[in-house]
Amino acid sequence: MSREVFTTSVVGSWPRPAWLLQELRRKNRGEVSYEQFSEVADEAVLLAIKYQEDAGIDMITDGEQRRDNFYSFVADKLEGIKLMSVAELMDYVQDRQRFEEVLSRLDVPAFAIKSPVVVGPIRKRRPIALDELQFLKEHTRRRIKVPLPGPYMLTRASWVEPLSREAYWSREDLAMEYVRLLREEILQLAEAGAHFVQLDEPTLTEVVYGGVSTQTFMCAAIMAKTDPKEELEFATELINKTVKGITGVKIGIHVCRGNWTRAEGSLLRGDYAPLMPYFQEMKVDQFVLEFATERAGGLNVFEGTSGIRELGLGVVNPRTDEVESVDFIVSKVREALRYFDPERIYLNPDCGFGTFAESPVNRAPVAYRKLRSMVEAAERLRQEYA
Ligand SMILES: [Zn+2]
Repeated sequence: MSREVFTTSVVGSWPRPAWLLQELRRKNRGEVSYEQFSEVADEAVLLAIKYQEDAGIDMITDGEQRRDNFYSFVADKLEGIKLMSVAELMDYVQDRQRFEEVLSRLDVPAFAIKSPVVVGPIRKRRPIALDELQFLKEHTRRRIKVPLPGPYMLTRASWVEPLSREAYWSREDLAMEYVRLLREEILQLAEAGAHFVQLDEPTLTEVVYGGVSTQTFMCAAIMAKTDPKEELEFATELINKTVKGITGVKIGIHVCRGNWTRAEGSLLRGDYAPLMPYFQEMKVDQFVLEFATERAGGLNVFEGTSGIRELGLGVVNPRTDEVESVDFIVSKVREALRYFDPERIYLNPDCGFGTFAESPVNRAPVAYRKLRSMVEAAERLRQEYA
C-alpha cells in the first residue's frame, strides 16, 4: 500500500524523561556544557524515535529533546541572544502596570517566562538544527521532519528595543538577519537529507486573537506592535523571503493557539479565517494546523481558497488523556477531503506533546496511544482511497 497518501507525522516535541530534565537544569546553571548535555540527550532522542517508529509514524522528529522549548533554545545556538527573566525585562517595559496585569492572568509557570532577547549582533555559535538532523539520520530510516522557529516569531520574541538597538537599528533589520540565518540553515538541512522543514509561527494567532489585554504565550509578545494587518503582512514577507527559491525539501508552517497548559480556557480561541488571506500568499508547501480542538474552528475556512497546496491536519489533541477514536480521526479527514486530495493530507497531532520541557502537556504512553490511533486511521483511509 502506498505510503504517499495520508502520511502520518508529528508537529515536534515529545515529553522528556526526568533524567533529561535534570541534565537540562544542570546545563542551564552552567554546570555542564551544551555538548555534554547533548550526549545525554542522545539517549532521550533514541527513546523518542522508538515511540514514533513503534507507533508506525511515517515522518518523525527527534522530539525536540535537545531544546528547552521550541524557540528559546536558540540561545544555545546563537551569539547575541540572552535569556532574560520577567524581573530583568520589567525595567524595559513601557507600560509596567499593564504588563503586570497580563502576567498575573497568564497560566504560564515562571520558568516559561524567560525570553530570548537580542543584546548583540547575532552570529551562529552552532548550527540551529543541523546537529539534530545528523543524529536522526544515523538512527532512523523513516522520513525526517525538522521544526525551526519561524522568522516572525523569533523577531517578535527577541526584539526588545532598548536592548536590541545596540546591535540592530530596527526590528526590520533584526528580522532580515533571522531570514538570512534561517535560509542558510534550511539549505543545509535540505542538503543533509531532511524531508520536511517546519517553521513554527504560533504567534500569528496571537496577532489576530490575542487582543490588547488578553493572555498571550510569550512575554516579549506583550511588548510587540499590535496592528494585526501590518504584523501579518510583515510575517508573510519574512516567511516568503526565508523560503524563496529553496527546492529539494518540503517546507511547512505550523500555526496553533498555544500549547503550554491543559486548561483550554487559557488558550486562544478562534478559527483560521482571518489568517487565510495571508496563508494564500505564503509560498510554502504545507500548513500544519490544529483541527482536533474545537477552539480552532472548522475546515470550512478552506472553502474557495486557492494556493494552499497541502494540509497537515491536526486530528488528536495533545493535551488530553482521552485517546481519540479511529472513527473520530477518519471523520476529520473526510471533512478535509472536501478541500484536499488524499496525497495532500498529512495526519498530525494538533501540536507537540511537550512544548515546554518542564511542563509537558502529556505523558509518553498516552502520546504513544494517540499516535497509534492516528496510524490506524491512516491505514483504514488508505485502503479506501489509495
Ligand atoms: Zn503548536
